[in-house]
Amino acid sequence: MYTEFQKYLSTELENIESAGLFKKERIITTAQQALIKVSSGQEVLNFCANNYLGLSNSPVLIKAAKEALDTRGFGMSSVRFICGTQDLHLELEKKVAEFFGTEDTILYAACFDANGGVFEPLLNEEDAIISDSLNHASIIDGVRLCKAQRYRYANADMEDLENCLKLAQAQRYRLIVTDGVFSMDGNVPPLDKIYELANKYNAMIMVDESHSAGVVGKTGRGATEQFNLRGKVEIITGTLGKALGGAIGGFTTGKKEIIAILRQRSRPYLFSNSIPPMVAAAGIAMFDMMSKTHELQDKLHSNTEYFVKRMTDAGFSIKPTQSAICAVMLYNARLSQQFAARMLEEGIYVVGFYFPVVPKEQARIRVQISAGHEVEHLDKCIAAFIKVGKELGVI
Ligand SMILES: *Cc1c(COP(=O)(O)O)cnc(C)c1O
Repeated sequence: MYTEFQKYLSTELENIESAGLFKKERIITTAQQALIKVSSGQEVLNFCANNYLGLSNSPVLIKAAKEALDTRGFGMSSVRFICGTQDLHLELEKKVAEFFGTEDTILYAACFDANGGVFEPLLNEEDAIISDSLNHASIIDGVRLCKAQRYRYANADMEDLENCLKLAQAQRYRLIVTDGVFSMDGNVPPLDKIYELANKYNAMIMVDESHSAGVVGKTGRGATEQFNLRGKVEIITGTLGKALGGAIGGFTTGKKEIIAILRQRSRPYLFSNSIPPMVAAAGIAMFDMMSKTHELQDKLHSNTEYFVKRMTDAGFSIKPTQSAICAVMLYNARLSQQFAARMLEEGIYVVGFYFPVVPKEQARIRVQISAGHEVEHLDKCIAAFIKVGKELGVI
């Protein structure tokens, strides 16, 4: 059997390669941070990590993780409800709820699991899920696992959402689902309008704050902070793998009855290991830090403003961003790849995206700004953009 299957897989791989969609992995030989070394020995400035607050290599988090390693061991060897719950897990769940102003929290190994396990236990074929067309893959997969009726509205399009809500009056319960930041454009959905529509058409709201937590809102509490909706949406999901530390771990936080049902019925929670003690402890230390100061968020916001202003002044077109994601528009797929390759030669690590990841004729370089970047890093990046931009006739 395998001989035939092998041929089939080889053809598939060739197709991916010839479509120019083969994903290669660049090997980093240092910690994740602003200045990294890759396996060729080249040192590059990293502008493509989700390390928005620069915490991936934070001494505070490393210290907390090491202490937990010494006092609570390496792993739990169990799911939460058998013998996988330490005091640290409960403390972290409480901190997540305090951060977002919610009632209770349930941890997962990743936000992919949080989204995979949130819909099916709560809703059934009598209900409706109304989802933004640009929502993350894990939301799409989670929705697929649920029997609820599915409605999809164009990205952040309130007219389209309203149409879906009208149609969904046929169902029992309605849940609107949106990312807090959309990862390709860096835009934030108009949660105030979504909230109004949810009230008008009797629906609940779920926001995935993975890209927005730590980034959006005055103190980085996410899109719900930005729109003064703390405690007002029913469900928030998020990750500890982006701004909030960068290691691993996800969560669902919100109304306490929702969290209670998930603890009983959410399959990725019931049938998958609990997060390691060191990750829980580092998470607690991270939220403690956030509760005392938002200087990292302030630095991220000023870094992003600086970058966008200088780049726009230099003649680049950047999609209006409300986050730390800056889409430098090049429109042409080949150009985006050529541009990113030249940037790497200049010591700047950025990635070019094109169809089908973004719409046709919308190819771009996505730059992700971090509080871990110093102004000199930003200046080097901008100078490289200007040099390569002139070379390739973009500006
Ligand atoms: C990154 C991301 C996830 C997945 O998070 P993990 O914890 O890495 O699994 C889920 N949703 C959104 C919106 C994301 O950006």
